[in-house]
Amino acid sequence: MKRHSTFLAATIVLLLASLDAQRPQFSNQVRSFIKVDAPVVALTNVRVIDGTGAPAKPNQTLVLRDGNIAEMGDAAAVKAPEGAAVIDLTGKSIMPGIVMVHEHLYYPTGPSVYGQLGQSFIRLYLAGGVTTMRTGGNVNGFMDFTLKRQIDAGQLPGPAIDATAPYLNGPNPFLQMRALNDADDARRQVNYWADMGATSFKAYMNITRAALGAAVEEAHKRRMKITGHLCSVTYSEAADLGIDNLEHGFLASTDFVPDKQVDTCPGQGQGQQTIAALDEDNEAFQALVKKLVDRKVALTSTLTVFETLTPGRPLPPGLEVLAPQLKDQFERAHARTAKNEESRYRTLLPKAMALEHAFAKAGGLLIAGTDPTGGGGVVPGFSNHRQLELLVEAGFTPLEAIAIGTLNGAKYLGRDARIGSIEIGKQADLVVVNGDPSTTIGDVRKVETVFKQAVGFDPVELIEFVTGRVGLW
Ligand SMILES: [Zn+2]
Repeated sequence: MKRHSTFLAATIVLLLASLDAQRPQFSNQVRSFIKVDAPVVALTNVRVIDGTGAPAKPNQTLVLRDGNIAEMGDAAAVKAPEGAAVIDLTGKSIMPGIVMVHEHLYYPTGPSVYGQLGQSFIRLYLAGGVTTMRTGGNVNGFMDFTLKRQIDAGQLPGPAIDATAPYLNGPNPFLQMRALNDADDARRQVNYWADMGATSFKAYMNITRAALGAAVEEAHKRRMKITGHLCSVTYSEAADLGIDNLEHGFLASTDFVPDKQVDTCPGQGQGQQTIAALDEDNEAFQALVKKLVDRKVALTSTLTVFETLTPGRPLPPGLEVLAPQLKDQFERAHARTAKNEESRYRTLLPKAMALEHAFAKAGGLLIAGTDPTGGGGVVPGFSNHRQLELLVEAGFTPLEAIAIGTLNGAKYLGRDARIGSIEIGKQADLVVVNGDPSTTIGDVRKVETVFKQAVGFDPVELIEFVTGRVGLW
């Protein structure tokens, strides 16, 4: 009898758990950042930017239930259900939660040292409207996986994370990066980190073709994707080896370096010089684009990090949340950059924009990320908005830029059936914006509420919690 009732209780618990599968039990810490949490939420009279690139629809009402978008349509036709928490969003917009794929939970804090800032970065990303992200390489080991698990379990606030393993690289000068010996070593490293909780991989600048090929094979056996910030291996070679994604637009391509030695990085600067001289109409460039499109290799735009290295550009947004020392450090670097007449980035940044635009117009899957590394100044959350602005500067319409930063990322991650656009039945990952980013992209900075699985987070509280401490944790 006792056993029977225990079984019954367990069954009831399981049933309740499955009914409530969408939302975890939140810790008190997470609750302190939540401003909307109700069984049924109605967002009324709002402009919907659905993330597909389609024109914005005015005057819509959405009903959120069980973590999903249950109903959506003209405000005149869709009524808020009785008992729903009704939020009138007249004059405001909603867009899908941002899905960006070259994010990091670390930041350059000292000479060759990357500080692990997971606790502040997960909050800043969420505050900026990022509801799903991939980390594009990890220099820590376990932190990305642990944060992912704790966020999924409701213990910490933050986006859903596709957590990359430590970098797959050849011999290199980085203090926090291992060097692979050979292809077998690459196989071992992929399987080890997949067993430990990694959900994707990233190859780096000095990997050999043999090691990259082996890593691609092992990652694909585990149904995981692998991207690369390359140099020793060309984009064309990597496409032949089956890589899924290439980072930094074309700025890491060494395909056009004359007399390039195989398996050797001629220096990123060498590659970038050839890119700066490249024209969108160049035949060899177009052949490379065609190959990437045919092989379905996605390309990640990370204009934000390159902007911080380019003279004559404005100070990036979000510096005020940094620990004072890091803020000073970056502001001094920015002033030095401004005076650098020789900087190759003067020509490279506009070229990067033009080539990425050409890739997308040729049918390539362009996705976006912000890469908070370089010389600093790329501040999560704020940088995701800046990335969208820079895509518009690159020639995309605001609607196209938003699609790149939402639905395209979801497509790459293979999650577009659930996230990435605003559609009935999809997960209610939504950003409420006080303005109209479909016409004025800069309005994406005016985030009011970030819904993740229909639970509304307060960006002001999230940012306040970390302000002045970003750099410490
Ligand atoms: Zn990176």
